[in-house]
Amino acid sequence: MYSFFPKPLPDETVYSLLCRFHLASAQASFKGNTLKLFKINGSRPNNEFPSFLNEFEGLSGIDMPTLINQMTSFHYYEPFLSPDMCLRLYDSLRTGKTESLQSQLGIVASRFTYGKELKSCPLCMKENIDTYGTTYWHLEHQITGVLSCPKHKCILNSEVCSPIKLLLPKLNKNLNVEVFDGEEYRFSSLLASELHDLNCDIHLPELYNAYWDRLRELGLLTQCGRVRQATLHKLVQKCLERLSDKTQHFRTLYHQVQKDYFPQCLLYQRSVQHHPMQHFAFIFSLFDSWEHLKKFIVSEHTCDALPNNQSVKVELDWSYFINQLINGQSLRKVAASAGVSIATLKARAIQYQVPIATRPSKVFDKERRIIWRKLLIGKPTEDIATDLGISQGAVEQVLKCYPEVKELRARIRYKAKRDEMLAVLEKCIRDNPSFTRNQIKQAENAAYMWLFKHEKSLLNKVLPKAILRQRRHIRT
Ligand SMILES: [Zn+2]
Repeated sequence: MYSFFPKPLPDETVYSLLCRFHLASAQASFKGNTLKLFKINGSRPNNEFPSFLNEFEGLSGIDMPTLINQMTSFHYYEPFLSPDMCLRLYDSLRTGKTESLQSQLGIVASRFTYGKELKSCPLCMKENIDTYGTTYWHLEHQITGVLSCPKHKCILNSEVCSPIKLLLPKLNKNLNVEVFDGEEYRFSSLLASELHDLNCDIHLPELYNAYWDRLRELGLLTQCGRVRQATLHKLVQKCLERLSDKTQHFRTLYHQVQKDYFPQCLLYQRSVQHHPMQHFAFIFSLFDSWEHLKKFIVSEHTCDALPNNQSVKVELDWSYFINQLINGQSLRKVAASAGVSIATLKARAIQYQVPIATRPSKVFDKERRIIWRKLLIGKPTEDIATDLGISQGAVEQVLKCYPEVKELRARIRYKAKRDEMLAVLEKCIRDNPSFTRNQIKQAENAAYMWLFKHEKSLLNKVLPKAILRQRRHIRT
């Protein structure tokens, strides 16, 4: 171990510290001396997965967990790996066997490859010079998908870095900084929050539970737990649209959205190793930030892990859920555990006369009675809405509270339809007294068929007597 080995600066990468060590040790050649010292020959020290951590630990005195967790992008991947894959990644970094990691992690297949560029923030650099007297490479600026500085919101500078050259970020005197606080910043901030959240206990199972529960909460699942694909697609597309042409990574991602491959692949191919970019894009669409996702997970959203492939129709035990409401559980929570929308649960609660904190709508209290009367006489909801100057949804909300009225309205509508069909047929018979059953059927097919299907005996009563089968040929 070298006593003059520089101490790592906050969020510094292994490569950055290697460069600073070279400058501090005053070695003649970066390639010839320093890289040889760390037994680096041929492999890229500025790679996402350095192969020399074993030697680095010995010479720098920084312990392996710190090196791996805080100075490589290990934790960027960690929540999205299976326990087995996570161990493999850690072990590969520890032992330096990092050659096949890219393909093992699905990076090659997903095309979210780590670039040859190193990125830096002009404002961070200025601060670092002022505080530490040097610039250095920040880990949070290097991870795949970061566009702007999570601290200063400005677009990052990129410098192409030859694999075996020494390079520290160059301070540009002209501090012409472009600040973005839109999607670029929010997405970058999501990535950085996860990267620095070293104590987080989120892994794939919790993550997938949160995905499905959130889909349910957002009304993106049907009653039997299937994804409303078109709506979800629209949501994800809208969230990623502004980022779609920012870098090759985002172009790849957006292409996957347009091809209907993403996010379906993430939801339905759980055994496949997905790139963090895909998870982050989905988290971004559903939760916006890492903090929101964590809050959601902590708030004990209880739910089955995966919806069944077969649609299962379950008759809900409403009294159980109503009791939960009476016991003070929130509408949101109970609706989520019942797998219904909040509006449906609200309607049930009103029906069970459970006072709920959130009012259905002010319009209801005043005009509920009027709406109810109009509903009772079978007036179409659309007409009632127009009469009272309220939304059709509001009228339907009232209707939902009275299942018996709903039934009555169905009967009223049925009777009206029957009378209409009957009148059509009777008119045809009156106008054409010589028509046979068959001729009537041909003349008024719709009415005939409706009555045939729903009111067969009534139809038989109105129609002229059937001609006996053996006499049919005589008439023709
Ligand atoms: Zn910055």
